[in-house]
Amino acid sequence: MEEIRFLLGTKDMPKSWYNILPDLPRPLDPPLNPATKQPIGPDALAALFPMALIEQEVSQKTEIPIPPEVLDIYALWRPTPVRRARRLEQMLDTPAKIFYKDESVSASGSHKLNTATAQAFYNKKDGTKRITTETGAGQWGSALSIACSMFGIECRVYMVKVSYQQKPYRRSMMQVFGAEVIPSPSKLTKFGTQILKDDPDCTGSLGIAISEAIEDCVTSKNTRYSLGSVLNHVLLHQTIVGLEAKKQMELAGTYPDYVIGCVGGGSNYAGLALPFMRDKLKGGKKTTFIAVEPQACPTITKGKYAYDHGDTAKMTPLLKQHTLGHIFVPPAIHAGGLRYHGMAGIISLLCKEQCMEAVAYHQNEVFKNAMIFAQAEGVIPAPETSHAIMAAMEVARECKKTGEAKTILFNFSGHGYFDMGAYDAYLSGKLEDYEYPQHEIEEALKCLPVV
Ligand SMILES: *Cc1c(COP(=O)(O)O)cnc(C)c1O
Repeated sequence: MEEIRFLLGTKDMPKSWYNILPDLPRPLDPPLNPATKQPIGPDALAALFPMALIEQEVSQKTEIPIPPEVLDIYALWRPTPVRRARRLEQMLDTPAKIFYKDESVSASGSHKLNTATAQAFYNKKDGTKRITTETGAGQWGSALSIACSMFGIECRVYMVKVSYQQKPYRRSMMQVFGAEVIPSPSKLTKFGTQILKDDPDCTGSLGIAISEAIEDCVTSKNTRYSLGSVLNHVLLHQTIVGLEAKKQMELAGTYPDYVIGCVGGGSNYAGLALPFMRDKLKGGKKTTFIAVEPQACPTITKGKYAYDHGDTAKMTPLLKQHTLGHIFVPPAIHAGGLRYHGMAGIISLLCKEQCMEAVAYHQNEVFKNAMIFAQAEGVIPAPETSHAIMAAMEVARECKKTGEAKTILFNFSGHGYFDMGAYDAYLSGKLEDYEYPQHEIEEALKCLPVV
């Protein structure tokens, strides 16, 4: 029998994260103060994040040790398996080898617990008593609730109202771990109150929820804010995914020709991809990197590479990134975790420098492929993850035409067991494909700050 699960023991877990900043083809453009448009120093972020995280945000060391307290918690579900999707290969009748790194085995059901654990740890160490955050589909809120409960920190989650209504079990999950869940926009903040005054039926957006969480943080005592994607330190914490996967691909006796992942803010894909990217930037490997996004929120494929705010109220520093504009309100597609207007600076720069490519798919074709994957492999992927799956399957189909036995590795960022409403909608033919219209993109891009 052929081996299809590539496993590491607890002792094989990487002891450091990989920081790509010093290895990038050129330095990231600095974050700017939204008012003065001048580069900000680390101190400007001190109201939001503990200093250890701010240092990681700008660190020039390639290896950053993972604290033992964090490794102890990682050991609850890490190292995660790499699996070979042998039955999918057979179903597609492809000579390609398809592997996936399974991040769905964490307690929160996705990769997000990797950074939630680290962020909660550094906050605890710094004396933080309470953390505020936002959540879209609920995955980040769930992960942070678990991490906060492990370190005894209070947690308040501003949940985009439409998800709060559509995903009651994600809400319950956060409450099980002791978090307080507030539908956003809310009357608990000035910004939310203002939004509701203008539009009492507003169903919210990630940009609005971020503004509320930040306002709550800066106006409360002993409180800090936490972000589940986009920022350099978040991507750093996720690199344990790719560092493990590199060892596991060695166990499998191969090296990926393709490394694929879905992108919302870019963290799960960066986690898998960056350790392999190092081999391309520094070791001459020819790997193809593909970031996959929804047509309904085509940040890299149709957005602009420019400085923009991270939130709707323009409170965050300006970051250079691919963006659809901070006033972008995404259509209610089901891949909730992929609906952010911006993109991690690191991923944006790698795309801009052509080290990485991006593709965008419609949701009906994504679900069609997710169904094939589920029936082949016996596991239901999250709608976000299904974007990566479709890209991997498209490469495998191409291999069938050319007869090339390429090795494909993608990140299985999370399972879909809280997303059955989305599968329901697909199965009953109620999912609509939505292409964010070019003129609306241009309209939203008019609001970009002038720097
Ligand atoms: C949040 C989420 C994503 C998207 O976020 P990234 O920061 O781009 O990783 C993708 N998949 C799952 C399962 C998620 O929960």
